[in-house]
Amino acid sequence: MTNYKMNTKCVQAGYRPGNGEPRQVPIIQSTTFKYDTSEDMGKLFDLEATGYFYSRLQNPTNDHVAAKIADMEGGTAAMLTSSGQAANFFALFNICTCGDHIVASSSIYGGTFNLISTTMAKMGITATFVSPDCTEEELNVAFQHNTKAVFGETIANPALTVLDIEKFANAAHAHGVPLIVDNTFATPINCRPFEWGADIVTHSTTKYMDGHGAALGGAIVDSGNFDWMAHADKFPGLCTPDDSYHGITYAKKFGKEGAFITKCTSQLMRDFGSIQSPQNAYILNLGLESLHVRMPRHCENGQAVAEFLQSHPKVAYVNYCGLPGDKYYEVAKKYLPNGSCGVVSFGLRGGREAAGIFMKNLKLAAIETHVADARTCCLNPATSTHRQMNDEQLKEAGVPAELIRISCGIEDKEDLISDISQALNCIK
Ligand SMILES: *Cc1c(COP(=O)(O)O)cnc(C)c1O
Repeated sequence: MTNYKMNTKCVQAGYRPGNGEPRQVPIIQSTTFKYDTSEDMGKLFDLEATGYFYSRLQNPTNDHVAAKIADMEGGTAAMLTSSGQAANFFALFNICTCGDHIVASSSIYGGTFNLISTTMAKMGITATFVSPDCTEEELNVAFQHNTKAVFGETIANPALTVLDIEKFANAAHAHGVPLIVDNTFATPINCRPFEWGADIVTHSTTKYMDGHGAALGGAIVDSGNFDWMAHADKFPGLCTPDDSYHGITYAKKFGKEGAFITKCTSQLMRDFGSIQSPQNAYILNLGLESLHVRMPRHCENGQAVAEFLQSHPKVAYVNYCGLPGDKYYEVAKKYLPNGSCGVVSFGLRGGREAAGIFMKNLKLAAIETHVADARTCCLNPATSTHRQMNDEQLKEAGVPAELIRISCGIEDKEDLISDISQALNCIK
């Protein structure tokens, strides 16, 4: 469906039923698949034929939905994972091994920061974190001889910084490694990182893609652009025979278009098994069918709430790249011309105490450790997710005590603003 427009892809890409077949993507609720001869199955194991044998590695429902996401991002191959965390881990671990190094933006999701800085460090994979606002020179000095990947988020959760994707892609390519971009908050509706030079895109589909707080999941998409064989010395896992898989050399057998996802499926999914359940993939697909309708409303509500907050006397500052004057307004105009997302963060003049009063008095916005949902939700990190930290530590972590994060849903913006307004009025 590559020639169709995004709105059409959201609804129909990935699954095109034949004559008399189910209109909706079928949920293939089966762990295993039946074959007539051992030879038929053998061909699957040798990767000589495509097909399914065990749902720990691959399932037809997932593959229909992954194909839709690949089409939306403009990629050549994709796979679904059980969560966004699994997607980011697999995307990195598919090309990094013990002794390797990652350059990552410091402004990323807390879970991903822990994954890279702590858990992958235990596997012998080190990282250098750079500010997303760093200069090209600062970025270049972060690379080492053993660097294998660069990682960043289009719009960072929760800092709402916007990544200069071209700057990071150019630096990655100058050092012969791919740029991996977590595109969760922007979604392919608002930004397609491959158009700016990113090589691999990941998603927590748990957020806007599902969009209804119903199904945890992740996705990895390959642009098909990175030439692994041209940097074969850096990527032996893709460019030399895999002894655990019948001596296949992925980059030779599947080319630039298919090597990354095929290796990720046949090695990492086989060994770790973090696959999305077909039920969740089905729910995710329902979300994708309306993503192009929901995203503009999330952005409209985010913009309206940000503008209201900016003009309110009890609000000290607002972070939203759609506001002229925001630090990321200009870079967002380039990468996110149609809007960013529905997540806004702001600080209250009254500090921790005011934040507590505000949160307690919200009626429509629910207190949740979640974002990117059809229903508006709100969080004060200092009194919830980060409550073990004192005010000084909170400031250092970039989540000062007065900070509130609100994820605007797709309700009526006037109702959202009046809820926020009445809660602000409770602060004396
Ligand atoms: C939520 C989130 C993740 C983690 O995804 P899960 O589906 O919760 O595992 C990763 N990256 C970003 C940007 C996120 O917002």
